[in-house]
Amino acid sequence: MDSEPSSRMSEDGYSEYSRPKSKRKKTSKVWHELVEGRNEKGETIATCIHCKIALVADPNRGTSHLKRHLIESCPLRPVGLPLGEGGTSNREEEEFVFNMNDLRKEILLYIVEGAHPF
Ligand SMILES: [Zn+2]
Repeated sequence: MDSEPSSRMSEDGYSEYSRPKSKRKKTSKVWHELVEGRNEKGETIATCIHCKIALVADPNRGTSHLKRHLIESCPLRPVGLPLGEGGTSNREEEEFVFNMNDLRKEILLYIVEGAHPF
């Protein structure tokens, strides 16, 4: 991929604001709870992170059927959960890091306290 220098203010700078949707970037919230992959036929599939079912994710079909699975059909997804809230990996990572730091702090305190048996 060739990338143009972003410092150049030309027509490109303008198109940053009104970018056409031709680049087909996955912005739908369904992708917070689905993992893209391919099946043995080479079709794009979306695997539900809740029930691990593989749905066909044909770009021409859009994401409405994927959305429907998450909201209506998924047997394991919590009912009434807003779309995209069920599996934001970023949030899980943040929580994990937070817990790790907390844990490490406690371990350090424990070690420091234990190292001075006065
Ligand atoms: Zn599911």
